[in-house]
Amino acid sequence: MRRLIIAGNWKMNKTLSEAVELAKGLRRKLYDVSHIDIVLCPPFTALYEVNKIIKGSNIDSGAQNMYWERDGAWTGEVSPDMIKDAGARFVIIGHSERRTLFGETDDMVNRKARAAIRCGLIPIICAGESLNEREKDETFKVIEKQMKKGLSGISKEDIVKIVIAYEPVWAIGTGRTATPEQAQEVHLFIRKLISDMYNEEVSGLIRIQYGGSVKPDNIKDLMKEKDIDGALVGGASLKLESFVQIVRGGV
Ligand code: PEP
Repeated sequence: MRRLIIAGNWKMNKTLSEAVELAKGLRRKLYDVSHIDIVLCPPFTALYEVNKIIKGSNIDSGAQNMYWERDGAWTGEVSPDMIKDAGARFVIIGHSERRTLFGETDDMVNRKARAAIRCGLIPIICAGESLNEREKDETFKVIEKQMKKGLSGISKEDIVKIVIAYEPVWAIGTGRTATPEQAQEVHLFIRKLISDMYNEEVSGLIRIQYGGSVKPDNIKDLMKEKDIDGALVGGASLKLESFVQIVRGGV
């Protein structure tokens, strides 16, 4: 049985005091949830303080990005060790906003994923097709390329620890969610791909989240699908009540 994992990607939102307030509220309201992994991904500036709030609770944290080098002259970048030092266990890698707005390639995603694993962080590796690619019937081709390149060189032992997030680009921040059937079809495709790349046991263990306009009113139906193991939530993770409802709806 794979354990569900629901993560909130706060993106470039929340000042320090707002982040602390939201983390305190979530700790208070979700204290009794023991069957789902809950992960908060605040901006770098709030990561350490958010970790102080959630320490010892059932909530973990993650960064939204990282660089693959350990240290050095990389102005503006943050290393995996720094993220760990701030208390985080997870890191989102290859989010479509990073790919489309900041030029991240599959090769960069792969370097980051391997560096995260090397430093003991759990990467949440994102993949997804654009609307144009879906309309041209290229969804599986795009996902296959992102997965094969993004996961290249990651061992069988390590791959079971990572999390994959299927996030169709056309569903992110648009209010347009993939139907549970559309999402399930791609999740199953990813699982079969992992089985071909590794083996069936590995593909049965790896967790695949869905992301793209997840809301309190659609979480239940999405989580009913066999190969959907949680959600990566953007906009709806910024408000206390909606994220609480999403986590509770994921039961
Ligand atoms: C995301 O940023 O990963 C995301 C899925 O955003 P939203 O939930 O706002 O579509």
